[in-house]
Amino acid sequence: MKFDIKEEHLIIKPYKSHESIYVREQNGRYQEIRRVLSWLLIIAFIAIPFLQYHGQQAVLLNVVNQQFRFFAITFWPQDFILLASLLMVAAFALFFVTSWLGRVWCGYVCPQTVWTLAYIWVEHRIEGTRNQRIALDKQANSFNKLQKKLTKHFLWLLMSAVSATTFISYFIPTTVLYSDIVAFNCSGIVSFWLCFFTVCTYGNAGWLREKVCIDMCPYARFQAAMFDKNTLLVAYDKTRGEGRGARKIKDDAKQLGLGDCVDCNLCVEVCPTGIDIRNGMQYECINCGLCVDACDDTMARFNYQKGLISYTSEQQLLGGKPQQANVKVIAYGIFTVAISIATSYWISSRVPLETSILRDRNALYRTNYLGLVENTYTLKILNKTQQALHYQISVTGLEGASLTLPKDLKIAAGVMREIPATLSVNDYNLTQRVTDINFTIQAIEQPDITLQKMTKFYSDITMDSDNKYVNMKTDIRKYKE
Ligand code: SF4
Ligand code: SF4
Repeated sequence: MKFDIKEEHLIIKPYKSHESIYVREQNGRYQEIRRVLSWLLIIAFIAIPFLQYHGQQAVLLNVVNQQFRFFAITFWPQDFILLASLLMVAAFALFFVTSWLGRVWCGYVCPQTVWTLAYIWVEHRIEGTRNQRIALDKQANSFNKLQKKLTKHFLWLLMSAVSATTFISYFIPTTVLYSDIVAFNCSGIVSFWLCFFTVCTYGNAGWLREKVCIDMCPYARFQAAMFDKNTLLVAYDKTRGEGRGARKIKDDAKQLGLGDCVDCNLCVEVCPTGIDIRNGMQYECINCGLCVDACDDTMARFNYQKGLISYTSEQQLLGGKPQQANVKVIAYGIFTVAISIATSYWISSRVPLETSILRDRNALYRTNYLGLVENTYTLKILNKTQQALHYQISVTGLEGASLTLPKDLKIAAGVMREIPATLSVNDYNLTQRVTDINFTIQAIEQPDITLQKMTKFYSDITMDSDNKYVNMKTDIRKYKE
């Protein structure tokens, strides 16, 4: 027996090679929704770094100084748990939307989709329609081809540079960044990141496009776990569409034994990931709805009912009714709301003040020249607000104690200051060798910013068997009333 085994059948390819995809431009209901959303997102992305709040950039992720400012709130590395909580809110919101509406994030608001479609829009303006672009790529090199290609890549690079600069301006104040760029005075590290993000944007949105979604995006891989038979997805109605076949508008499909699919191939040509949705649900589908718009146009041209390709659910495709209350969706929704409320409360009740107290390492206590027992501390106070504040510091828990502090307790915004503090007390006021005390730190300008910190006051006082207090150092017995 003779086997016909070709060499390519013996090679295991870890990655599927992709053919170039020439996306046809499509108008329609869902494309209009995406266009509006894309514009809103792009405008917000560019405008947010220019917003000012109390004379400062409202949103600034200052990695060098480890301050992450969002309008009135500044997060510090110490607030990492709070940031983790915010990320959890975002994750649960994404799970909620995905289990309810499928991959709408991918199709409508994912930056990869928004930027890719914007780059395709530019390509269409320069190189023409899908068929013209295919023809241009097949053409031999010519001045006309070179001119079009150079113009397109120049515009892509320009868009990438603007995106990269905008992105960096979330990390470096716009006033500094833009004046440095205009004056050609950017530091080496800033120049590196500007070039890096320009190349990444150009590569991702111009060249890699759908390959990022198909081969690189981890979200595409695990989101199927959130799907069930009620999840909204883009699907082709096979029962109605098959057998597919070309025909003229005036032909009677029933007489010809044809389904509603006229096999125009438009649903494939408009698809940014290059799939044929008629082959069933595929993980490459980003739920963008472009094929729905394309097919609805065709259906309208042939006077057929729209919706041969539509947003539907597996349940509906099998003839069932759409389920109104899906337990998984409701559970994700409840989690999202609960975590959002908890995080909002956490943020609103957060005190923008951080304090730690270090004791003097050289001596637990000492007796000063007045005969008072003395403990010294170093208070580290971090002003987490966005303005300079004066603080007052007091101690409770030790009767008759006096606290010696520097005169000026002003701390600039975002600054941690070390403040030496000396606490002294007559040992007649002491009832035990180690006393728990509380430091209270309060901002004078904003008294609601107040924090208490517990520490200990050490002395050489102890009790003897007669319940009398003894100064261990001098061995003088002292009697308390
Ligand atoms: S199959 Fe349709 S919805 Fe899915 S990615 Fe392609 S065009 Fe978008
Ligand atoms: S767009 Fe509609 S009619 Fe045309 S091939 Fe696709 S499913 Fe068939």
